[in-house]
Order: sequence, then C-alpha cells, then structure tokens
Amino acid sequence: MAEDCLFCKIIAGEIPSNKVYEDDSVYAFHDINPAAPVHILVIPKKHLSAVNAASEEDQALLGHLLLKANDIAAEQGLADEGFRYVINTGDKGGQTVYHLHLHILGSRQMTWPPG
Ligand code: AMP
Ligand code: ZN
Repeated sequence: MAEDCLFCKIIAGEIPSNKVYEDDSVYAFHDINPAAPVHILVIPKKHLSAVNAASEEDQALLGHLLLKANDIAAEQGLADEGFRYVINTGDKGGQTVYHLHLHILGSRQMTWPPG
C-alpha cells in the first residue's frame, strides 16, 4: 500500500467504493463520476503508479487483470455489443489517479478519436 494513494485506500476499505469484483490480486468498482452508463475501474491490489511502471514480474498480474476485466464486461452484458478499455497514462495521457487502473466503458456508442 502506498501512502496517500486514493485507490490503495479504496482497496483497504478506508474509503468507500461500490465494489463489483475482488480477488487476491485485483479489485473492481464503479467509477464515481461515470463517463458512460457502465463505467468500472479494474485495479491491481499491488500499487503500480501507472501501466508503464509495471515490470517483468508483473506480467501475470497484468494478464489476470485484463482477463478479469473481460469477465466483468461480459457480466455487464457488454460482450456482444462491444465496449472500450482505457488506460490513461501520465499527464498528457489524462491520468489523474496514480494507481494503475483500467477503465471499462460501455452501454453507449463510443467515438474515435477520444478527446
Ligand atoms: P484517470 O483520469 O484515468 O486517472 O481516472 C481516474 C478515475 O477515477 C476518474 O474517472 C474518476 O472519476 C475516478 N475516481 C476518482 N475518485 C474516485 C472514487 N473515490 N471512487 C471511484 N472512482 C473515483
Ligand atoms: Zn495505490
């Protein structure tokens, strides 16, 4: 757990969240400010500040996170109609919380390119 990390505090239960899924290594919860009718964040329990802070030892964790996101997207009914994953990275990537998180966005038509 990293000091002063919002998402570490959510994992620890120190800050409430609307949990969708949890296991030994990942945690998923509804985004507090949804950008789509379905907007879920999937995070590793291990504190990684961003996706590009991961290293070789995190390979299985990242794979697990992505596969669990697929399960969650399917449970939300998004598998057939489609959805979007987003990992904002760094300042110009629009990252505001520096604990790796995968956004699952769905139930509306997405456009490209993103803003
Ligand atoms: P990003 O801009 O990719 O770093 O995304 C951070 C996301 O975290 C935003 O979509 C916020 O709405 C979301 N967020 C911030 N605080 C909370 C919170 N306490 N509970 C749930 N989601 C949050
Ligand atoms: Zn953290």
